[in-house]
Amino acid sequence: MSSHILGIDLGGTKVLAAVLDAEGRILARARAKTRGWRDDEEVFRTIIQVGHRAIEHAGIAVDQLAAVGICAPGPIDFDTGYIIETANLKFKNFPLGPRTAEEFGRPTIVENDVNAGVYGELKAGVAQGARDVLGVFIGTGIGGGLIVNGALYRGSSTGAGEVGHIIVEAGGPRCGCGNRGCLEALASRTAITRDIRKAIKRGKRSSVAKLLTKETDLLSGKDLKAAYDSGDELVRNAVNRAARLAGIGIGSLLNVLGPEIVVLGGGVVEAFGDDFVGRIERSARDIAFEINSKKVKITRAELGDDAGVIGAAMLARESLEG
Ligand SMILES: [Zn+2]
Repeated sequence: MSSHILGIDLGGTKVLAAVLDAEGRILARARAKTRGWRDDEEVFRTIIQVGHRAIEHAGIAVDQLAAVGICAPGPIDFDTGYIIETANLKFKNFPLGPRTAEEFGRPTIVENDVNAGVYGELKAGVAQGARDVLGVFIGTGIGGGLIVNGALYRGSSTGAGEVGHIIVEAGGPRCGCGNRGCLEALASRTAITRDIRKAIKRGKRSSVAKLLTKETDLLSGKDLKAAYDSGDELVRNAVNRAARLAGIGIGSLLNVLGPEIVVLGGGVVEAFGDDFVGRIERSARDIAFEINSKKVKITRAELGDDAGVIGAAMLARESLEG
């Protein structure tokens, strides 16, 4: 029986594909950049090509695949495999699951990328063996995923887990979702950059001023880390404030959910490492009730870029088992 699974992670800047064996080990990978695409068909063709390259690198034939799991940003209808909308890609109501199933001739599931990433960490990463997991991924935006009783929690609506859009400051800065004061509008890389840009406009000095000449310029995790380490006071304050606010959001969620482990990932967490995680942790524990703080482990994700493909592949495998 065919036992390999193809996992595909469709991101704002790249598409990553990997073939996993029956034990969940990655046999081969392939990737492509996703910038500058004209339309949804071009995005789709690239996804299929990268998938085929990973299959080729793994030295197997397509008919040795049992299933395909794809993860992508934005709201996804898990039941139909449609991508409803993506912020950075050209998809709108696109039948990604059905079209991919047709291309490879294999059952295909489509899952939200952060959900898949958290699921990957549960199955093969830092959250292995845990029952209740809260995943928070801090990058350009803030994504979240929940594992409850060992299973991905989508809620009755299927839209659960939007940790980035809990409101931490009523009437605060406008979020990409349209609301004000969301965690994402306060603690993401986009929010940190906005705060730094504003302060520079008010006359504050910073070593990153030269990187912010255009309104659309976004500081990278690397830029922020370098300025932080060099003692740039403006950057240090903005980053530390973001960590404190992320901790306030997470501490509130500890009280609601009582998880066993909080997994922190994403570009900002990867760039800043343990010191940033420590700040988030202190801020979260500060407001969580003792009963909800005592046993929870707050830690960094460990699979990096592989979390999404592994999670998507694992979910595809499990969908076969019904
Ligand atoms: Zn929001």
